[in-house]
Amino acid sequence: MSDTDTPFLELRNVTKTYKIKQGLFGETKSLTALKDLSLKLNKGDVLGLVGESGCGKSTLAKILLGLEAPTSGQVLVDGTPIGGHDRLALARRIQPIFQDPYSSLNPRKTIQDLIALPLRVHNVGDEASRTKAVREILDVVGLPSRVLTNYPSQMSGGQRQRVAIARALVMRPQIVICDEPTSALDVSVQSQILNLLGDLRREFGLTYLFISHDLAVVEHLATQVAVMYLGRIVEETSAAALFDHARHPYSQALLKSVLTPDPELEVPDTQLGMAYPNPIEPPSGCHFHPRCPMATPECSAIVPRPITDDLGLVECHLHDPDVDMSRNLQEASS
Ligand code: SF4
Repeated sequence: MSDTDTPFLELRNVTKTYKIKQGLFGETKSLTALKDLSLKLNKGDVLGLVGESGCGKSTLAKILLGLEAPTSGQVLVDGTPIGGHDRLALARRIQPIFQDPYSSLNPRKTIQDLIALPLRVHNVGDEASRTKAVREILDVVGLPSRVLTNYPSQMSGGQRQRVAIARALVMRPQIVICDEPTSALDVSVQSQILNLLGDLRREFGLTYLFISHDLAVVEHLATQVAVMYLGRIVEETSAAALFDHARHPYSQALLKSVLTPDPELEVPDTQLGMAYPNPIEPPSGCHFHPRCPMATPECSAIVPRPITDDLGLVECHLHDPDVDMSRNLQEASS
């Protein structure tokens, strides 16, 4: 494998489990947030990671940012285990943008201090050059220099997210992990922030992992899409292929939900007829089977295996040549 083939970031067979105590005297159970999950982020990719709340997306982001360690499996940066890299150097290369800019910005600091903080932490330049860098990046994200003396509470939600983006970019990272960066914003502001992220990607040659519960948001930016369900990636393909012809029944349901968002719940209305399953007690076989309109008896008995082909990856018996679903599909439809 040449250097150019080595992914920037890679998860190899990563599993993450948490011990959850149910009630004061209840038994301790195991919650598997990620299960034997593999993922690659190549230079220049915008990988959209999509799934409902509780599917493991944010756990995956924390592991990629080095904020949590996997229970098993490996996280590689440039082909080297993450533990073998200098933490500060990694933090310079990989920056996060979180969902709620208000809670991620210290309310007692001015915008100038907030954006300059990473430069100070990493000892980049002197005070004068840091002030210059802050003014430049503020301009890049479309904010006037007069806001430098403001506090976060004096800014709108969209302006705060621009500050959070400026703070991430002032370090000139290569990779930005965007964890639901627009879901706390009004719909009218969402598209402005998405356009800004698209412009910044082109200007700075950024690589994005873009996490969202909303395929419509991902459609704006993503070159690749990975669809997650209960800690597994059930489909991964190019954005064009997914939006043209999703293969997994869950991806198909998410695509339908793009047309029918539920503004009350702020989650996709998948029209799948039941709530997301409890990850502490996942359904047998294919975890999606209780909600899947294509499910057959095989689905509750056999765990689907990942099938990889020219289009990417799909984890569903319907696409596994070794599982004969035709008999049961005929029975189900008769
Ligand atoms: Fe649906 Fe069965 Fe495919 Fe799972 S394996 S997605 S239940 S058809």
